[in-house]
Amino acid sequence: MAYVITAPCLGEKFGECVDVCPVDCIAEGKDQYFIDPDICIDCGACQAVCPVDAIFHEEDMLPEDEMYLQKAREFFGAAE
Ligand code: SF4
Repeated sequence: MAYVITAPCLGEKFGECVDVCPVDCIAEGKDQYFIDPDICIDCGACQAVCPVDAIFHEEDMLPEDEMYLQKAREFFGAAE
């Protein structure tokens, strides 16, 4: 399981999450930041500091946000 960065990050990219992640698994993409779902340890630190509430735990995501988990996987080059 992992946290996922969703739509509110698009075009905002404040980046506070990057500074607080203890395992350095948040990377900057072209239009948004991404969390590497294979490395995230589910600590929630990034969610607490996101100024636009873009970060959700995988289990709490809206169905329409599931594409953002897929997008993150693709960004980090995961197979599925
Ligand atoms: Fe990093 Fe924790 Fe956020 Fe996962 S939940 S991306 S480990 S800060």
